[in-house]
Amino acid sequence: MFVTFEGGEGAGKSTQIRLLADALRERGRTVLTTREPGGSPGAEAVRHVLLSGAAQEFGVRMEAILFAAARSDHVEEIIRPALLKGAVVICDRFMDSSRVYQGVTGNLELPFIEALERVAVNGVIPDCTIIFDLPASLGLERVRRRASAAEAPAGQEVELDRFEKEELETHEKRREAFLDIAAADPKRCHVVDASAAASDIAAAVLAIVEPLLPR
Ligand code: C5P
Repeated sequence: MFVTFEGGEGAGKSTQIRLLADALRERGRTVLTTREPGGSPGAEAVRHVLLSGAAQEFGVRMEAILFAAARSDHVEEIIRPALLKGAVVICDRFMDSSRVYQGVTGNLELPFIEALERVAVNGVIPDCTIIFDLPASLGLERVRRRASAAEAPAGQEVELDRFEKEELETHEKRREAFLDIAAADPKRCHVVDASAAASDIAAAVLAIVEPLLPR
C-alpha cells in the first residue's frame, strides 16, 4: 500500500510520518518511510541541486523536469520494489507537490505537468494521500521557528530553503491548490487539520489509513 503525505511548509508532515510508521509497525506491518525530492541516492543528489542557490538559475520547466527525473528514479529504485514486497510505503511529498509547486505556483500548463507526472510515476499512484491543511501564516511561523538558531541543534544553523522564503500569498495559493486536488479526487485524498495537536492529528491519520490496509 502506497501512502503519500502532502501539504505546505511547516505542516508537520515529517513528525506525522514517524508516528504513523510507528503505529503501523506496532500492528505488525513492514513500513518504508521515504521523501521527495530525494529518497534514492540519485534523487537525493538532484534534491541537493534543486534546493540550492544554483537552482535559482533554472527555468521552471527545467526545475519541473528535474523533480520528475528524481521522482522516476525514486519510484523505480525504491518505491515500486518495496510495494512489490508487500511493504506499506509512506512518502513525504509526491506527484501532488509537483502539480501544486511547479504547476499552480510555477504557472506551468497542465498538459506539461501531466505528461511529466505520467512518465515519472509510471503507474505507481498513491492508494491514499493525506493532505495536511493549515493557514500559510501558521506553517511559515513554524518553519521560521524551526530554522531559528535557538531551536537548531547546538552550533548548527538550519537554513530556510529557497521555497520556504517565498511570499505568504504564494503559500496561500498552494494551500488552495492542495484543497482543490483533494476535492477533485476524494477517493484518494483525505484532508486533515494540521493546526490541531500532534496526537490528535496522528489519531486522525491512523483512522484514515488503517481501514485501507490490505488484510
Ligand atoms: O517537504 P520539504 O519541505 O522537505 O520539501 C523540500 C522543498 O521542495 C519544499 O520547500 C518544497 O516546497 C519543495 N518542493 C517543490 N516541488 C516539489 C516538491 C517539493 O517545490 N514537487
